[in-house]
Amino acid sequence: MKYDVIVLGGGPGGYLAAERLAAEKLKVVLIEKAEVGGTCLNIGCIPTKTLLNSAKLYAHARDSAAFGIEAEGVRVNWPRVVAWKEEVVSRLRRGLELSLKKGGIEILRGQGRLTGPHSVAVDTSTGEHLPLEGDSIIVATGSSPIIPPIPGAQGNPAVLDSTGMLALQEVPQRLCIIGGGVIGVEFASLFSSLGSKVTVIEMLNEIVPVMDKQMAMMLRNALKQVTFTLGAKVTSIEGQRVLYEGAGGEKGAVEADVILMAVGRKANTEGWGARDIGLEIKNRAVATDAHQRTNLPGIWAIGDVTGKSQLAHAAYRMAEVAAADILASLKGERSAQEFVPETVPWALFSLPEAAGVGYTEQEARAKGYDVDVVRTPYGVSGRFIAENGFSSPGSVKIIFEKDSQRILGVHMLGAYASEHIWGAALAIERKLPLSALRTMVFPHPTVSEVIREAAWSAHE
Ligand code: NAD
Repeated sequence: MKYDVIVLGGGPGGYLAAERLAAEKLKVVLIEKAEVGGTCLNIGCIPTKTLLNSAKLYAHARDSAAFGIEAEGVRVNWPRVVAWKEEVVSRLRRGLELSLKKGGIEILRGQGRLTGPHSVAVDTSTGEHLPLEGDSIIVATGSSPIIPPIPGAQGNPAVLDSTGMLALQEVPQRLCIIGGGVIGVEFASLFSSLGSKVTVIEMLNEIVPVMDKQMAMMLRNALKQVTFTLGAKVTSIEGQRVLYEGAGGEKGAVEADVILMAVGRKANTEGWGARDIGLEIKNRAVATDAHQRTNLPGIWAIGDVTGKSQLAHAAYRMAEVAAADILASLKGERSAQEFVPETVPWALFSLPEAAGVGYTEQEARAKGYDVDVVRTPYGVSGRFIAENGFSSPGSVKIIFEKDSQRILGVHMLGAYASEHIWGAALAIERKLPLSALRTMVFPHPTVSEVIREAAWSAHE
């Protein structure tokens, strides 16, 4: 069978690339071995956010007396929480499948394998072996959780990855999380809100490496019910006992019913023929340029497998960049669009949530910028106080270049941060100075006004 474009992998990157190219009347096939929607929709972003929302509702109901609403007998019905999560995922997946079909995309269920720069062999779920040919191929095979070679981790039924956590039959009484990154902190927030006793063991001296250090410390302090053990390396796991060693050699142990391994994810570069056809693998990921081209003409790669970012929205943008380049290549041209990792915002959906874009203060200084910073508490927002009270944590920090006042980074902790960080991303992408945030009118009363307040309180 012959196609204009073969897309390998049906996650956010793969399905968006397929949609964009099919909309331009190209004949597109999307190969997926599991479910369309990939990690994000099926076992990542969407199910975890659904669970976190249930945890948020529980916390609100439990703590609502201060706001004049008295609820009694508030309790967690975990099977119902899980059923709601599954309903959200399956309905969104059905919607996605329908819209892909409506868009004229052929979905082929099976395991694909690149056999050349324009050919893919598929072992379908119905047992067929199909050779496909495509003018262009997009690789979007994603990433998988890392299980490090810690003695006692492999094959231990108490040790789960993020996928295993989504299938828990009950809220664990004691949860030990190895790795205080995004996944570790989201699950720590979720289960501590639902009543688990949670310990996070992080090998670095602060949690969430992507965060500005000052903001990460504030987040850590805001997650009051969670015990954080920083600067500690897990040396082994004995059944349900996690043994660790601190930087000074001091030893400790944590007993838990469930142990979550959240030490990062690795690009899926194996099992689909990358090395056999000579695709360049660099730093354990498929090497791509700013247009998402690989070293082999006719093959583009997007999303987690490129090692550029493991965020679904970054995969979306890489998909658009690759699609634009494929369309340009049909006319013998090159696309002007490029993927710019520096302006991709991130969001952490813990309770409270956090988000950021651009450099942290530490990164900006390391890059040699003459840096100034301003930090404003969320308490300046009337809406924030009304909804969260006077002692809830929340803060925005803007990092900017002293002379030009150009915004280099915006980092936020507190309610709605994930929803308004896009505005900061636009400011950074357009290389705007702080004055742009001062003269822009923000709606009142909103939490987003703290960004404007921060810009006004900065030195000219
Ligand atoms: P991560 O890189 O964010 O965090 C891993 C953490 O584990 C780091 O802090 C690291 O220092 C620590 N670590 C590594 N080895 C360790 C060890 N042996 N002992 C103790 N600590 C150790 O990775 P993650 O949390 O697994 O998430 C993977 C990716 O998934 C993220 O990079 C992110 O892109 C994506 N993700 C995003 C979201 C979101 O956008 N909200 C949510 C979940 C996952």
